[in-house]
Amino acid sequence: MKTLRAWALLGAGLLSLAGALLPGCAHEVQPLTGVSERAVAFVGVNVVPMDSERVLADHTVIVRNGLITSVGPSAEITVPPDAERIDARGRYLMPGLADFHVHLHSDEQLLSYLAHGVTTLFELDGSPHHVQLRQELAAGQRFGPTLYTSSPLLDGGPPGGKVVSVTTPEQARIAVVRQKLAGYDALKVYDNITPEVYAILVAMARQQHLPVVGHVPRTVGVESVLRSHQALISHGEEYFLSASRDESRIAALARATKEGGTSVVPDLVHIHAALRMLKDLEGVFADPEARYLSPEVLRNWRYSNPTRRVDVAEFAERERAAYPFVQHLTLALQKEGVRLLLGTNASDAGLFPGRSTHLELSELVEVGLTPYEALSTGTRNAVGFIKEHVDPTARFGTVAVGQRADLLLLPGNPLEDVGQADRALGVMVRGQWLTREQLQKLREKSASAFAQR
Ligand SMILES: [Zn+2]
Repeated sequence: MKTLRAWALLGAGLLSLAGALLPGCAHEVQPLTGVSERAVAFVGVNVVPMDSERVLADHTVIVRNGLITSVGPSAEITVPPDAERIDARGRYLMPGLADFHVHLHSDEQLLSYLAHGVTTLFELDGSPHHVQLRQELAAGQRFGPTLYTSSPLLDGGPPGGKVVSVTTPEQARIAVVRQKLAGYDALKVYDNITPEVYAILVAMARQQHLPVVGHVPRTVGVESVLRSHQALISHGEEYFLSASRDESRIAALARATKEGGTSVVPDLVHIHAALRMLKDLEGVFADPEARYLSPEVLRNWRYSNPTRRVDVAEFAERERAAYPFVQHLTLALQKEGVRLLLGTNASDAGLFPGRSTHLELSELVEVGLTPYEALSTGTRNAVGFIKEHVDPTARFGTVAVGQRADLLLLPGNPLEDVGQADRALGVMVRGQWLTREQLQKLREKSASAFAQR
């Protein structure tokens, strides 16, 4: 499902719209490669830096070589004469968002994420293709968000598809070393790993400096996963599926999560999407975002969605019970000071890339997070996770000098209304500025290429 043709189209479109991407050269502060050297200045903008809950009114932000080089009151900042000036008075500038649970089922989805202001992605079912994609994006050979990728799923049971089967201690040891050598950023664990194998995976992963992320293996159980300091549990529903479904245990689970130092992707939108498909499948296919998905992905949604399950009634009942449980859990985790991360599971059935990221932000506000707390899950918390577990030199998630210039220019204040974050007038990724109209043109090109397939 990896189409080079559409990417070639996209590449050509971008070059004609935004000018050629210049190769990097030597600079004083470790430059990004493949980024534009021309400075861009956001003049007179209200900065939402996301380092704390504040707005810096009437500031000017200067970007060069893909990095933020100055942030200060407009009166004190001199805009370089060669800079492209963006008059941003009355607008708001915030960091691009990170979606920490994606499945890139085709490369064109990178554009959908950008169009929705998602500038960092964590693929949670990696393949060699994702490792290569990560390198090409980082080198500026491809235009798109910054990518991190976990290993393929490690699971018990017989091997099937791209799942790595780990049923013995020996297989577990070999698997961890292999995933490390293959260049993955994390080890993804799944439902049917035994406690014996899980213990070895966790110990080996620590040795290899690979964070363990993903599900809660059912026979291991959530308490034991938390005692093992698994880096990330994705999704919140894992607590419901692997622990007692008794809400009175939520407070204790939240405390144990904090003590374990485990981060959590609540992924409420995942449950919501399942319930929506059960109620109105055709409504999902009629969604305006559907035309930006490749025909292969849409065909996949037709054949693997909740309505096709053999246990559909049981599943529906389970999801309806899981939803309020995960809502209450999410708020308890936030109150306990657990690091929550924004994530969606897109583009599994019913979850549109980028659009789902914003639906999840609204879900988080609905459960009781403030807009600042909700936006933190996709900005400062995201970089905190990467710095702790993957790359201590990561620089995104806040607006500050030295950070990678992944920025959203918004018409209103997202700290007052989180919905503003999905109304970007323009998106900057690695210093490359694209207006909403330019992004839309690129998406239309990609959609019409799909329509002809
Ligand atoms: Zn997933």
